[in-house]
Amino acid sequence: MRLIRSLIERLEPYVPGEQPKDPGLVKLNTNENPYPPSPRVIDAVKDAVDARLRLYPNPTAAVLRDKLARYHGCRPENIIVGNGSDELLALAVRCFVEPVPERCLPEDRRGEYTVQFPSPCYSLYSILARIHGALVNEVPLDEDFGLPGVEKLLAGGRWNTNAALTFITTPNAPSGRAYSKADLENICAAQAGVVWLDEAYVDFGAETGLDLALSYPNVIVSRTFSKAFSLCFQRIGYCIGPEKLIGALQKIRDSYSVNGLGQVAAEATLEDLEYYYGCFERINETRESVSEQLTAMGFDVLPSKANFILVRPPCPPAGEWLGLLRRKKILVRWFDKPRVRDYLRVSIGSCEEMEQFMNAVREIISET
Ligand SMILES: *Cc1c(COP(=O)(O)O)cnc(C)c1O
Repeated sequence: MRLIRSLIERLEPYVPGEQPKDPGLVKLNTNENPYPPSPRVIDAVKDAVDARLRLYPNPTAAVLRDKLARYHGCRPENIIVGNGSDELLALAVRCFVEPVPERCLPEDRRGEYTVQFPSPCYSLYSILARIHGALVNEVPLDEDFGLPGVEKLLAGGRWNTNAALTFITTPNAPSGRAYSKADLENICAAQAGVVWLDEAYVDFGAETGLDLALSYPNVIVSRTFSKAFSLCFQRIGYCIGPEKLIGALQKIRDSYSVNGLGQVAAEATLEDLEYYYGCFERINETRESVSEQLTAMGFDVLPSKANFILVRPPCPPAGEWLGLLRRKKILVRWFDKPRVRDYLRVSIGSCEEMEQFMNAVREIISET
């Protein structure tokens, strides 16, 4: 007898960026924040490490949801907290999308089984859809990674306004390209199914679709404490949306998926936002200055509103740059996939790290 479902046997899993053992590497490969959490956050976590570790954490992250509700001007019922926003993305697929039936798929109801997204985008969406046994409808972004308008999407003949779930990474990853709220709203208004705006990087300067999540019955925005708030390690993400959709997600979430120290850290983060605004400013300034320097050196740099940039290096090809940079102790990300194969994704590190990166780039150019 087969022990593992054939769908799982065939599955290509998500490949996370490398977490190297060598501490000497400059790590610009996973979009982590180069600046530590605020000292008050670190103190709050330390203070919470005592005999209370034996207790289960608050199952609904009630205190954190109250604080988030105040921060975003909504009700706690509009918010669900997850073990990173990745958990919530997985819940969304299970909550809103029918797995394809074993026998015949009714053509006129294709949408109910469909997870849709403009791509390139966060590569986890398609993997989550495949795990669930859903249909995947991947529709290309414009040549410059812009979001096609609704008319163009429909004219292309592949976009499905009845897709059960549509993910949009905004600002886009891996390009960093930002989309306007108006363009996002047009898509939300056209969709009959759920539209999920993944705003993992929105704090670095892009427009938010939060208003849409609080006014449309079918729109959800997801956020994370990982990238902007330097808490990858703690795994705290959340989403905001209509009470009905959020309630449905709560029903299927594991009761204790969100660990207690993570909740403490996120609560303390919201008490010290000024610290983080300072970090965003520094990262955005570094991003603009590095982009300018790379452009002057012959790189094609896509405009970014995130804490990373997607750049097409001059000769040799991007795949070779990956190894050349690594030999100089710089770790960046290269995706061996259509449309992005010629590019490197470079996370924005501290000023010092980016200086090391720029020095390595200069050396490689002079050596080749
Ligand atoms: C990093 C990332 C996430 C996941 O964030 P976690 O909250 O750490 O799970 C989600 N979406 C995008 C686009 C990301 O880059």
